[in-house]
Amino acid sequence: MPPEEFRRLAHQAADWMADFLANVGRHPVLPRVEPGATQAALPAQAPEQGEEMDDVLADFERLIVPSLTHWNHPGFLAYFATSASGPGILGEMLAATVNPNGMLWRTSPASTELEQVVLHWLWQLLGLPDQCFGVIHDTASTATFHAVAAARETLDLPVRTRGLSGAPTLVLYTSEQAHNSVEKAAMSLGVGLENVRKIEVDAEYRMKPEALDAAITADLLGGRRPFCVVATVGTTAATAIDPVPKIADICRRRRLWLHVDAAYGGSAAVVPEMSHVLAGCDRADSLVVNPHKWLFTPLDLSALYCRRPEILRRAFSLVPDFLTTPEDAQVVNLMDYGIPLGRRFRALKLWFVLRYFGREGIIANIREHLRLARSVAACLAEHEDFELLAPLTFSTVCFRFHPTGVSETQLERLNRRLLEAVNASGRFFLSHAVLRGRFTLRLAVGNIRTTQEHIDQAWELIRFKAREMTL
Ligand code: PLP
Repeated sequence: MPPEEFRRLAHQAADWMADFLANVGRHPVLPRVEPGATQAALPAQAPEQGEEMDDVLADFERLIVPSLTHWNHPGFLAYFATSASGPGILGEMLAATVNPNGMLWRTSPASTELEQVVLHWLWQLLGLPDQCFGVIHDTASTATFHAVAAARETLDLPVRTRGLSGAPTLVLYTSEQAHNSVEKAAMSLGVGLENVRKIEVDAEYRMKPEALDAAITADLLGGRRPFCVVATVGTTAATAIDPVPKIADICRRRRLWLHVDAAYGGSAAVVPEMSHVLAGCDRADSLVVNPHKWLFTPLDLSALYCRRPEILRRAFSLVPDFLTTPEDAQVVNLMDYGIPLGRRFRALKLWFVLRYFGREGIIANIREHLRLARSVAACLAEHEDFELLAPLTFSTVCFRFHPTGVSETQLERLNRRLLEAVNASGRFFLSHAVLRGRFTLRLAVGNIRTTQEHIDQAWELIRFKAREMTL
């Protein structure tokens, strides 16, 4: 593409992006499309001859945008609401433009070093002490996979050379509320789902440390090899915080690797009155936090911190001749700390986000999300036909519609219908979870474009749809 054509199209695209972001709330948050519709609207083969970029952009607007679920929409309150902020988007654009591959320091000195700097800034913002080695991954699932692999590496088994044949039965512990990425890590690292102990939780969905300790004892007596505990700060369904300080005590006493999954909840620690959420995490061996969840950074960017980076290196470094460089002994080559060789320049967007908002801006936004969630939780708690199903720990409200005299089975049906009715409006998108067998609606605030007005409207719509169903 000639530079002048690129310039014209880039200006056009920039205008489109600014208009889109200014008006994203006018799109339905959930697209009204049938499965297969997008595929059916597209040719089955790539074009033989190149096409005009103007036509491609027009098709993007006509065929793709209407079939997108709009995560930047202020009414997106599902899962963990996330959002791409302006500075984050600019970072993505520029990263794609310069397109360095940070596999080695030499292949991209600035991106390698910026990654270390921004992850150190983030560590400090989270209120964690000292320094800790950090590496950026695409997602928390990948980060947790690497943490569990590092935990396995500490056992000094000949896994690298001989695999797991003849190895003892390794056991990993996490709570029954943990994200399934923990099980996926165990599944793919040869631990096996049967050897994941899902430790019981208390009434507030937090792992019970005494149950953890008892499970470890039972496995040791059974001749198995406990090696890793994954605690969560902000569980996926109820956003509970496991008692990390007590779990860290157990891990220290039992010599187990402690990984903390703070993918969602970690960001809240930037807010001074929420700093307690990461209590004990300074004693974790590894920790993951996702700026692409609640730190206004476009997908994808997950920060994995590891106290002993040499263990990650031991597990993953494998350097063929063509990737050696004269400065290897002096630098960090990020390919040595995980599976991927090629790495895109994700640190740039986080740098932009942290500089644009600053600590104060981040605090103000997250604090507002916490307040919005409290405001809707207060409305739900006061209304006789609704009930909260989990304590409000962060900015995610777990609730259900519960008119009097309705059985549990009917309640599930009623709440499923309510969820579908709210989501079909195109104005708001809620998600669900199952807590203690109860079908639960989740309203997650976390999008920088969501305001009190949106939250009030969401609550009004929920009440309206609920009333409609009982008439
Ligand atoms: N951990 C927790 C607690 C989560 O809630 C999620 C996703 O919502 C993940 C991990 C996985 O995150 P990712 O999509 O970055 O893999």
